[in-house]
Amino acid sequence: MKWESFCSILEKSNPENLSYIREDAKKHFEDYGVYPSSVNYNQGAWYFLVREATEKKLIIYGCDEYFDKFDGMTISINGKLTKVCSLNNENCDVIREVFPFTNPSSHKGKAITIGLGDRLGIASPGHIRTVADKPVFPILAQQSIRELNLTGRTYRDVLSAACWAVFQEGYTKGFGADGDHLKTHEEVKMALDNGFTMITLDCSEHIDNKVTSYTKEQVEEKYLEIDQQERKNLESKYLNKEIKLKDGSVINFEPETFKEIVLIYLKAIKFASEIYNNIIKTCERQIDFEMSVDETLTPTTPQAHYFVASELITRGVEITSLAPRFCGEFQKGIDYRGDIEQFTREFELHVKISRHFGYKLSIHSGSDKFSVFPIIGEKTNGLFHIKTAGTNWLEAVRVIAANNPTLYRRMHKFAIEHVDEAKKYYHVSADLSNIPDIDNIKDEELVHFLDQDDSRQVLHITYGLILTEKDEMGKSVFKDEIYSTLYAHEKEYYYALIKHINKHLHLLKV
Ligand SMILES: [Zn+2]
Repeated sequence: MKWESFCSILEKSNPENLSYIREDAKKHFEDYGVYPSSVNYNQGAWYFLVREATEKKLIIYGCDEYFDKFDGMTISINGKLTKVCSLNNENCDVIREVFPFTNPSSHKGKAITIGLGDRLGIASPGHIRTVADKPVFPILAQQSIRELNLTGRTYRDVLSAACWAVFQEGYTKGFGADGDHLKTHEEVKMALDNGFTMITLDCSEHIDNKVTSYTKEQVEEKYLEIDQQERKNLESKYLNKEIKLKDGSVINFEPETFKEIVLIYLKAIKFASEIYNNIIKTCERQIDFEMSVDETLTPTTPQAHYFVASELITRGVEITSLAPRFCGEFQKGIDYRGDIEQFTREFELHVKISRHFGYKLSIHSGSDKFSVFPIIGEKTNGLFHIKTAGTNWLEAVRVIAANNPTLYRRMHKFAIEHVDEAKKYYHVSADLSNIPDIDNIKDEELVHFLDQDDSRQVLHITYGLILTEKDEMGKSVFKDEIYSTLYAHEKEYYYALIKHINKHLHLLKV
């Protein structure tokens, strides 16, 4: 065990000189295998993470009141009780007790917040290194139920991975945990029970997209089915009104638009306020609530945005952020597609509405939307939430392409064969005929598949199928080798993440 000699250093060290000790661990990382920023001290016990041959371990050198709570192997080093522990969920719960900075928290009041979902559970240290010196609050744990199902992970796993990363990096500035795109009471409750600090409520199942294809008569007819008192109440607030925003711009609700909006969104508003008031508001922790209407067919008009926000607030909902469906396409893994001038115009109005009410705009599927980042940074004046998720997976695949070409080739072929299955979950426009035949590509050139839109999207959306594929014996076909390759190239993976996310932040003018 390489880290034993580090214990002898600790014997001679004063806990008050923690930065000096960490510096030493950093200088001798190859000798000790100790993650420098993970070195911590609590009442007679030293804590640190080490890099063993195939996995990381938590070492507790010396006894404190928590020592017995950890599950691990007890040994003696320099005559001191020492425990070698796995980075499992149970031990994570205890670490969170010992070092409160490893717990997620609300991001209320933080201007720039960024969702950095980590599908594999090993990317967060790279994400932390990217944002550590920037005015950015990271939401390190961020996963939708779809992602949980596709990766076979639980919310507990997702949060533990983030907490361990925070401990490894000694990151004390705070981070969030977002239960992303939750659709039911049960899902919201599960995320809150697991300690998540942000809830993104996906109301798409309560949004009636059919309305836009109704005739005028059908709209009228359906509208009259709504309770009369309720209609009267809404009409008095919006119908034929010119509503002035705080910056002076005006939102009009003409009769037809008004009735359509009510029909499309009223059920979603009621659903959201019911979830908020019954489950989220009653949680004893401060929770950041995001209303998402982005995963629908209809782009959110400024009128609709105003109506949804105004009605939620009337019903007692405290909105931290709201994610409209913007014009154009925010497809996974590639740049924005659409009319940039129209996007700029409409985005500006959405910003004004969010400012009027005092919450942030949230931009989903924000990975790689390089051509609109400058607009988002500028128009929001540095007050936004943006979610990235699949990017860290693609960067992982890039590291695999560069270092384990045989594995990459197998993954690539599998992804192409199974892309139609993945298209059930994700809408992408990838065209297989644009992807060159991998058998004609040299090993050194495999990484270029990660720079080409079509292959990028194919690899982006097939992650779940790749990770969960088993052979006849029930053994993972790719998963274990993916993890072992990335573990062997840990530094390189972090470097790839830093480079990629920094490109985002730079264009967002952070
Ligand atoms: Zn979304």
